[in-house]
Amino acid sequence: MALDWQTCSRARLTRDARFDGKFYIGVLTSGVYCRPICPARTAKEENVRYYSTAAAASEAGFRPCLRCRPECCPGTPAWLGTPSTVARALRLIGETGLEDGGVELLAERLGVGSRHLRRLFLRHLGATPSAVAQTRRLHFAKKLIDETHLPMFQIAEASGFGCVRRFNASIQKVYSRTPTQIRKLARQRAVQPQDQYVFRLRFRPPYDWNSMLTYLAARATPGVETVDGNSYRRTISWQGHHGYFEATIDESNVCLVVRVQFGDPRSLFFIVERIRSMFDLNADWTSIVRSLRGDRTLATLVEAAPGKRVPGCWNGFELAVRAILGQQVSVKGATTLAGRIASTFGRAFAPAAGLTHLFPTPAVLAEADLSRIGLTTARAATIRAFAKAVHQGHINFEGIIDTQNFLADLVQIPGIGEWTAQYVAMRALGEPDALPTGDLGLLRALGLANSKDLAKRSEAWRPWRAYAAMYLWNGGDPLRGTMVA
Ligand SMILES: [Zn+2]
Repeated sequence: MALDWQTCSRARLTRDARFDGKFYIGVLTSGVYCRPICPARTAKEENVRYYSTAAAASEAGFRPCLRCRPECCPGTPAWLGTPSTVARALRLIGETGLEDGGVELLAERLGVGSRHLRRLFLRHLGATPSAVAQTRRLHFAKKLIDETHLPMFQIAEASGFGCVRRFNASIQKVYSRTPTQIRKLARQRAVQPQDQYVFRLRFRPPYDWNSMLTYLAARATPGVETVDGNSYRRTISWQGHHGYFEATIDESNVCLVVRVQFGDPRSLFFIVERIRSMFDLNADWTSIVRSLRGDRTLATLVEAAPGKRVPGCWNGFELAVRAILGQQVSVKGATTLAGRIASTFGRAFAPAAGLTHLFPTPAVLAEADLSRIGLTTARAATIRAFAKAVHQGHINFEGIIDTQNFLADLVQIPGIGEWTAQYVAMRALGEPDALPTGDLGLLRALGLANSKDLAKRSEAWRPWRAYAAMYLWNGGDPLRGTMVA
């Protein structure tokens, strides 16, 4: 990791929240590891060691601190100084966990040898892939113990331990306490209604929540998503179960408060990770702002509204359909069309205020008569072809190894051009460097004549070009520049 001892030391002594999740502090005298923001008394420098990941601190024999709760910190920014193989591996571990014997499989999917992958992990993260996956499981289990009333056997399952005995043994070994003892220590808030869970998801400040909400509100598919007051809410569907979640910012501006209603607790890990990525909670603002400030236009915009994030999405398929609908019509027009798609072809489901439908599945849209809702023949054909490709597994939004290959597949579909592909990369794949260089709004904001000039100018913003786009659009519309029909 590209952090030196002095930076860590300074961040630790000032409890700098911008570094939360970027490194961990092992305290020799207490045997615990902490986040930079730990409220406990600051240890002497000679008694601390710094680790780039929680897994590395754990491998070195430190226990997670019960006060600052390392399981609650923002995710490790995977790309920070790590080669792309490690970043991809971390993304896959994040999406699916790592089943038994999973390292071999993981290495195979990434096209490298498993010994090489282990070496890369040790060099860049200080821990093996299995240790990283194990730490994630433990952290999520701890979060469920502290923040929900789920019975322990369900937590064991939800956090991927398989059986209760393994779960108990792992918790006992790491925390020197049983799961039940840990739960007694947690000051639990009010009991939630059945199947409802409230999570507090941390980010590294600043976070411009208003601009996130404004962006999502303009594009919210009626009936499927809604923004009211200070919260965003939507219906969700995963592996045959349905539910919804609602997200808002905590008063003290340090985390999102997310309420999830979902019948199957085994999916909570997936749901929480997906929400983290949708709201771009792992972003490392200090690194982003450093490269954007170099551009005079961006510097002014960043100064005026620090903490903008790239809005992601709940479901890549849905986002891509929305992007296709947005071709050559206004944001408002596209939102109306998306609402018609949802109410005509989606399944009725009304779990909370403002929500009436689930977004239709690829299987349904592949066969849908889209001319009924006012789509042009060409646009209807594009959506059907895209839905069919996803339904048949030719295009898959889960576990993407290689963004470039994925995008190449996407533009094979007639009617999906470079602009749409880059927009999908930005929002559905969370690709921080994606940039629709043909976008007229971006060209106009910078007074540039063509996409070549934008490509050249944006070299300096790498690897954060998606954030630059958010600033340049600044709540305005992406303007679909050079596109295929
Ligand atoms: Zn601590």
